[in-house]
Amino acid sequence: MAVGRIYYNRPYIQGNEMAYIQEAIQQNFISGQGPFTKKCQDWFDRQLGFERTLLTTSCTDALEMCALLLDLKEGDEVILPSFAFVSVANAFLLHGATLKFADSQSDHPNLSLESVESLINNRTRAIVFIDYAGMGVGVDQMRQLAENHNLVLIEDAAHGLGANYKNKKIGSFGHLSTLSFHESKNITCGEGGALIVNDERYFERACVLLEKGTNRNKFRQGVINKYEWVDKGASYLLSDLNAAMLLGQLENLQFINEKRIEIWNTYRSAFENINEEISLPTLPEFCDHNAHIFYLLMNSEESQKEILNFLNLKSIWATFHYLPLHLSPFFKDQYYGPELKNAVKFSESIVRLPLHLHLAEVDINYIIKWVKNYCED
Ligand SMILES: *Cc1c(COP(=O)(O)O)cnc(C)c1O
Repeated sequence: MAVGRIYYNRPYIQGNEMAYIQEAIQQNFISGQGPFTKKCQDWFDRQLGFERTLLTTSCTDALEMCALLLDLKEGDEVILPSFAFVSVANAFLLHGATLKFADSQSDHPNLSLESVESLINNRTRAIVFIDYAGMGVGVDQMRQLAENHNLVLIEDAAHGLGANYKNKKIGSFGHLSTLSFHESKNITCGEGGALIVNDERYFERACVLLEKGTNRNKFRQGVINKYEWVDKGASYLLSDLNAAMLLGQLENLQFINEKRIEIWNTYRSAFENINEEISLPTLPEFCDHNAHIFYLLMNSEESQKEILNFLNLKSIWATFHYLPLHLSPFFKDQYYGPELKNAVKFSESIVRLPLHLHLAEVDINYIIKWVKNYCED
């Protein structure tokens, strides 16, 4: 059977995206805060209960806005996972934070409560939590911990659009939460993101930061008759062309997530008790996830390399995930914190399998066949 290169991920763009982009061009409004941005914001409010959502150029930029909203002073510390995408570190570093890396949970890549707790001191200002694979395990306790110490919880929900934890939406746990619509996520508008402001106190200032530090938002609403420079800021707002595409994607979010869950479940049952070299992650309770990632856990870094080479030779684009940030070329010489064993373990064991709507049943069977075949050698 000839199966061509099986991509790790490919966006599914089959709805109103093109029609909306055309509409945006025809109505002559393609810069930020246009009609499609408004429609996306209404969608977030109606469908997910996010009343205050600002569309941004990326999740990275939404994280930068969080850093600015913290108004960091020299020496202020932000606790973040080491097993994470580089943006969670850079966004805070750029705006003056001292980074404190924390470990993952032993049976899930999400942040460990104990590890975070051990790093809190009187300079700590915020905790950044990633809902890995769209699973919120531990995020509710992290919010409680943040409250107890008067810290801000920033929830990076880039993986988790449409998912729930304990019947609450992923993205609703942080005082501030972020989303990504990068091509690698469940839905995309090319490059794009959002800042969800769950704590009303931050909203007015967030609107100013978004618009280059001006009060243009109030001007647009007719509250003031000229707009002025009132704060720091940058151009973080999403073009309405991208928002037009995003609306088309949002309309298909539920369908896309449901299809992904089907594939995820097929993998999961195919690999139940496969062998000693490969295990399946424990399924955390209360996670109504969105199948952003399906991964296997290999019992050593060598087997991780081996299976990835093996699958890649079969044209299957399987892949590892984050490399621990505290051991990165940029940070390792300035790291003096504790050993972060779980972050290292996940980095050396995770193997992500292709997961997207362009996978045909033959592709999925082909992937399952070769993973099983690897085990038999
Ligand atoms: C993709 C991703 C980002 C970065 O998103 P961009 O929109 O590309 O800036 C940040 N954090 C996490 C957890 C991600 O998965």
